[in-house]
Amino acid sequence: MFSPSVIFLELTDACDYSCRHCRASATLSPSPDTMGHEKFEWLARDIRRTFGTGMAVVITGGNFLMADSFESVIGACRHEGLRVAVSPPASRLLEPALNTLVSLGVSSLSLSLDGGRPATHDWLRNMKGSFTSTLRYIELAKDAGMRVQVNTVVHGGNVAELPLVLQVLREKGVDVWEVFFLIRTGRGTGVPQISMEEYLDTVLWLSEVGRPLVRTVEGPLYRAVKANRDAFRRMAGKTYRHLRETSAALGIEIGPSPGQVGTHPHGGTLFISHSGDVYPSGLARVRLGSVMEEDLGTVVSRSEMYLPPEVSSHLRGRCASCRFRYLCGGSRARALTETGDYFGEDPLCPVVL
Ligand code: SF4
Repeated sequence: MFSPSVIFLELTDACDYSCRHCRASATLSPSPDTMGHEKFEWLARDIRRTFGTGMAVVITGGNFLMADSFESVIGACRHEGLRVAVSPPASRLLEPALNTLVSLGVSSLSLSLDGGRPATHDWLRNMKGSFTSTLRYIELAKDAGMRVQVNTVVHGGNVAELPLVLQVLREKGVDVWEVFFLIRTGRGTGVPQISMEEYLDTVLWLSEVGRPLVRTVEGPLYRAVKANRDAFRRMAGKTYRHLRETSAALGIEIGPSPGQVGTHPHGGTLFISHSGDVYPSGLARVRLGSVMEEDLGTVVSRSEMYLPPEVSSHLRGRCASCRFRYLCGGSRARALTETGDYFGEDPLCPVVL
């Protein structure tokens, strides 16, 4: 049976941020169908029964710190032997909660930084001062002994600033850089998308970053590029040159590193919403079932065709006949959002067959 690399648990769809690209279109009020803490605690046991101890769980939202259940759910996950990371916005609720999170056994925290300049980040997050808060919370989390991951959504308005983001991450000693390629869903339909050429140039440059550890989300071409760098470098365009030149001007050393990791094909994740709906990821909104009606193992075993590795056998369009289909396979979330076909080709892919 498919076993995810990580399971995202959305404790609430309420949030004190109102980001322009929010997949959940989160508002200040939680939806009335939000599961209670007993159901989330049952789910922690169900995850352990289905996938065993050691499964990685990311507690997310909305802003999960707005859910009354967060301490009991994290406690239940830890009790079941699950590894717990958290993904809050850079909210004022975070600072007073940091020590509680550490004492509950949370060892890893991710924050978003979506631009190298305050105005760029604050625009996407729709919150003045968010850039400054984010840098402060990165420092506080590092001081608290947590492993810190930074997430960056790449879009048409910030792709040129990625070397500036990288400079900040290196200065702050960030451990992992998770680079998301925009999926225009929820409130994100108005955010500018990058071009095919910018997609290729960005993953090519990311394949040379080396430090911090880079992972991509909805950027599966990264795996194909890492495995075939010389061939893809011959296709490099002006954005790649800009990213290289800007990195050099900032004094950032880059170069291939064997220590990097790529994404899992098609995500390799599961996402369980605040109301118990199960999806392949938070961005690929194909509802596989609900833990309000069935246990997780039943939902997953009935849904194998939507999940790795079986999804590779159902691809359509260019992805179906592409030599990189097992390394890359295209973004299922982008295919679904842009074409309505979960198994269709990735519309951002620059590869000509
Ligand atoms: S055609 Fe599909 S599988 Fe091939 S490189 Fe493009 S996105 Fe990846």
